[in-house]
This record gives sequence, C-alpha cells and structure tokens, in this order.
Amino acid sequence: MSNVTNFGDQLTELKGQGLLRRRRLAGTACGPEMLIDGKPVLSFASNDYLGLASHPHLIDAATQGMLRWGVGAGASEYLGGHFPPNRDLETQLATFVGADKALHFATGYMANIGIVPALAGRGDILFADKLNHASLIDAVRLSLAENHRYPHLDLSVLEGQLAASRAKHRLIVTDAVFSMDGDMAPLPELLALADRFDAWLLVDDAHGFGVLGPQGRGTAAHFGLKPTGRLIVMGTLGKAAGVSGAFVAGDADVIDWLEQSARTAIFTTGVPPALTFALLESLKLIEAGDGLRTHLQTLIARLRAGLQPICVRAGWHLPPSTTAIQPLIIGGNDETLAVADALLERGIWAPAIRPPTVPAGEARLRISLSASHGEMQIDELITALAAIAL
Ligand SMILES: *Cc1c(COP(=O)(O)O)cnc(C)c1O
Repeated sequence: MSNVTNFGDQLTELKGQGLLRRRRLAGTACGPEMLIDGKPVLSFASNDYLGLASHPHLIDAATQGMLRWGVGAGASEYLGGHFPPNRDLETQLATFVGADKALHFATGYMANIGIVPALAGRGDILFADKLNHASLIDAVRLSLAENHRYPHLDLSVLEGQLAASRAKHRLIVTDAVFSMDGDMAPLPELLALADRFDAWLLVDDAHGFGVLGPQGRGTAAHFGLKPTGRLIVMGTLGKAAGVSGAFVAGDADVIDWLEQSARTAIFTTGVPPALTFALLESLKLIEAGDGLRTHLQTLIARLRAGLQPICVRAGWHLPPSTTAIQPLIIGGNDETLAVADALLERGIWAPAIRPPTVPAGEARLRISLSASHGEMQIDELITALAAIAL
C-alpha cells in the first residue's frame, strides 16, 4: 500500500455521506428567474440583495469603463499604475460608510485573508466567533497570532478570553451578518468589550453593506457606528453591490498600514477599472435605494409569516433573522436534500447547505431574498414548501 492519498476513495466517501457539492449550470444572468441546468427556476440562491447584478445602469457603466480603460489592469496597481476610477471608488466608499479611508480588494475572500494577518501577527492574539465565514477562518489560520474561538455570539466567553489574554495587540474578528444564519453580531456590545480590553474589532459586513443602515451604509451604521477608532469594517461588493470586489474602511493610519502590508492587495493584479465604473454606479443606486430596501423588508416579513405554520407542522425551524438571509433548518442531510430536490421539481431553487458549512444536524435551505423578487414569488415558495411538508 502506498501512502499517497486516494482522492477517488475520498470522493466516494463524500458521496456516500451526501456531501458532494455540485455546481449547476446557469443559462441566464443572475436574477429571480433563471435557467438552471436548462430548466427555468425561481431562484432564492443569490446574494444579489438589491437586484443590481444585471441592472442596465451597471452594464452601461461597465461598458463605458471598458471603452475608456480597456479590459485588464495588466499588473498589480503597486507596479503598473493605480487607475483613477479605482482611486475614486476608495474615496467614495470611505465617505459612504463614514470612514477616513478605504482600501479596495479584488474579492471579499482575498480582503479577509490579507487584512487579518496584517493586523495581528506573531505575539498577538485573535478572538473569533465560531460561525465566522470560511474566509475569516482561513484568514485566522494564515495569521501567526494565537487564536481563540468563542461560541457563536457568546460575549461572556469572549470577555473571559479577553480578560485572560496578555498580548501587545488583540483583535476580535466577526461577521456582522452571519452568512448561513442571517443573524447580526451586537456591534455596540462588541465595541464596548474592545474598548475595555484595548482590542481592535474587525467586522465583515458582506451581507450588511448596501442592505442595512440608513441608505444601505451597512451594519455599523444600522447600530449608529462608524468605522473609526477601534472599529475596522470590511465590506464586499459582489453581493448587494451586484459586481465583485471588497474594501476595508477605517482610520487613516489603519488603512495606510494595510496598504503597506495586506499581501492580497499588493501581490495581485489590479481590479479591472471597468468593474469599478460599474461599482461607482452601484454606489449611487445603493444610496438612492430606500425603496428597494423597504420592499426587501416587506418580502422578509411575508416569507417569515408564511413559513411559521409550516415549520410547526413539519418540525422545521426558522431561527430569528431580520435580514435577507432566511435559514430554514430541516436537520438531516438527506432530508434537506430531498426538500431541495422537491422544490426544484416544482421549479424553485433554494440551495441545501450541509456540514461542514453548517454544524452537523443543522442542514438547511438557505433562502436568500432580493428586492428583485415580487410578493407573488414569495407566495409561490411558501405554497411549494407547504405542499412538500405534508
Ligand atoms: C461572501 C462572503 C465573503 C467573501 O466575499 P467574496 O467577495 O465573495 O469573496 C466574505 N465574508 C462573508 C461573510 C461572506 O458572506
């Protein structure tokens, strides 16, 4: 027997456990109605919370950007030149979230794995919520700091860990809106702990930016906070903003430091300026998008009211979430897949999320709502789930 890993056996094992991931072919642009594997579906699968991913203004802007600046950036912006639209985007993002400065990244995943090791290194201590997004988990692994995880939202455990820590720098990292549960981290309480124990607080606002707070300024703004002092906010631009990319915002010295030390900002090809054109347009639509956000809230309330009796009947669980992410916890992997398949047979797509993305026994449908959905489409989903739950 050789010691070489037999990937085929590992795949067979995954398959046996019902844990094989599969990418279904999309035959149309992102939207509520899509062709998936050649079949028309009503989709509750994207994070395009404001329906901007296929917005004609964004398409126009990207086209204009491409005509002016070409397609590729050609090199890292540290080598090949910082394009004015990319610089303007950083300025506008900072202003929008109420920070001194912002630094732009190509994706949220890259932002996190660049920011965390730059803020906490050898001799420092990190504190992380156990349900943080995979990119923050990997970011913590990449850092040379000592790492403590605390149970989801358990601030008393965090407080104990902070009190027991002796380090030059302490950094707390948390999702603002948790990506598989839709619940929010209590940022004011976390910030109070950060103040008391002289720690930095890095908040990943992938699901709050554009959706929560006045004019969609994000989860910090929802709580009346700004990315200043100890609070550093990372936001992504591929979800509500409808394009791709990410940024980190905070005080000038923090962002200046990250500009020097976040390796995923430095050692990577610059973001195509055409995408930045689209993002500058997206920011305008987000700021003016109160109507979209109000509609989204109406849809969330309608879905939750409709699912409540179905959950009681079927023994499913809909944990509290006021955000566009609504987790319908079914429990077992096979059972959850069966519900997702039954929905798909009825032309509705809500992805099944299984371990290890979520804890064992908490497999779920991750229903994600968008302002581009209509009320009738929410009712279609409720009706289908009611029939499947029988
Ligand atoms: C999606 C997501 C990311 C990654 O962002 P990308 O831009 O898609 O790479 C990071 N953090 C959280 C919480 C997310 O949900």
